[in-house]
Amino acid sequence: MKHAEPGANSTKSLYIRTYGCQMNVYDSDRMAEVLAPLGYQLVGEPDDADMVILNTCHIREKASEKIYSELGRLRPMQSDKAARGGRMVLAVAGCVAQAEGAEMQRRAPFVDIVLGPQTYHRLPEMVARATRAAGNRVMDTDFPVRPKFDDLPERSSANGVTAFLTVQEGCDKFCTFCVVPYTRGEEYSRPAGEIVAEAKQLVQAGAREITLLGQNVNAYHGAGGGGGTWSLARLIRELADIDGLARIRYTTSHPRDMTDDLIAAHGDVPQLMPYLHLPIQSGSNRVLVAMNRKHEVADYERTIDRLRAARPDLALSSDFIVGFPGESRRDFEDTLALVERVEFASAFSFKYSPRPGTPAATEMLQIDESEKQQRLSELQSLLSSQQDAFNQAMVGRTIPVLLEKPGRRSGQLVGRSPYLQPVHALAPDRAIGDIVDLSITARHANSLAAQPLAESSH
Ligand code: SF4
Repeated sequence: MKHAEPGANSTKSLYIRTYGCQMNVYDSDRMAEVLAPLGYQLVGEPDDADMVILNTCHIREKASEKIYSELGRLRPMQSDKAARGGRMVLAVAGCVAQAEGAEMQRRAPFVDIVLGPQTYHRLPEMVARATRAAGNRVMDTDFPVRPKFDDLPERSSANGVTAFLTVQEGCDKFCTFCVVPYTRGEEYSRPAGEIVAEAKQLVQAGAREITLLGQNVNAYHGAGGGGGTWSLARLIRELADIDGLARIRYTTSHPRDMTDDLIAAHGDVPQLMPYLHLPIQSGSNRVLVAMNRKHEVADYERTIDRLRAARPDLALSSDFIVGFPGESRRDFEDTLALVERVEFASAFSFKYSPRPGTPAATEMLQIDESEKQQRLSELQSLLSSQQDAFNQAMVGRTIPVLLEKPGRRSGQLVGRSPYLQPVHALAPDRAIGDIVDLSITARHANSLAAQPLAESSH
């Protein structure tokens, strides 16, 4: 524990609401760990909490409006607690806080702490400053020179059998639709030794699967000791040697950083799961140029071919933006054609919506909303037919499933296939953390059903 520990150590309740991607989930876990020595323990509801953190995401449309409306819901709870002589510290963290901190302090003066994604290791100090006197407000949206990871505590709990581990943050690519380079800052890779140590702590605490996270995770190039630099592939090979770590995944990747050694790792590291999220965003070269993606459709397809040659059962996922400024019907049809050719196991698709401060937001050639909706429906119907076909192909097969936690029905556990599909099966709680071969009997909208564990062949 390197940071100061101000304040009394009595038990206090902490509610964190996380918006957005897995990197925010990781950050929320770490904020809870940083606050634990001050006596804060996580609770499931905000109503009477001593501290509430909204860990925000700037990617989706009207992100900040959603945060203000959530703050509006929290404010009476904060007043109610104050009327009873208590104090609810309200904090807004993450990318909306980073992008709109000053505006937030103006519009929601009852928010005690506004902090960016790079400063949450300083939360104990911020809480101390905010609680020193009523009305104290703290804003910390710096990009500190010293990376926050240096000041975070060791991982003592894995929160289950699967864990996230941030290896890289920020981005230098400046896609014209994206706020990440502005909210998370320039690309930074953590030193490899630090990541390996954290992975060992997570495995020690019960993790069987680790997902390596980064906004641009395959651009990872961390110091590897002895003056050298490790690539993501080199890091994955090292992590694969950790006893007890059965599965490794990574997300999110950029097609331009899909290097030869990483493609090779998909072929010869058995712990690296055969599922890859590799966003292309559009199937039109014209749109890719406008997005500043700096690769062509053919480059993407060549990479896919090489990945599938290395790992024939690799399941692919992608992100798509439809209705990007200037996207013609022809451009959109190129996207449909790409999807037909590649065949995705799953995908995320969105209508383009302008993000303040990004170059594409000021483009004159914005696409009509109803046209965007029409294109999105067409694309989603094609993508969901591919996802259905992929899931249907699992029925009748026996696949290894990592059992993660109790399911909704009594006696049921839910786990994940190698291809990240949720799988439900009747199984005893003691099987949580096991990887078992399960016979798949049916597919539902977003999951697979398997025979009870005792009846599956393993
Ligand atoms: S590579 Fe990803 S994180 Fe970086 S600017 Fe583009 S979309 Fe945003």
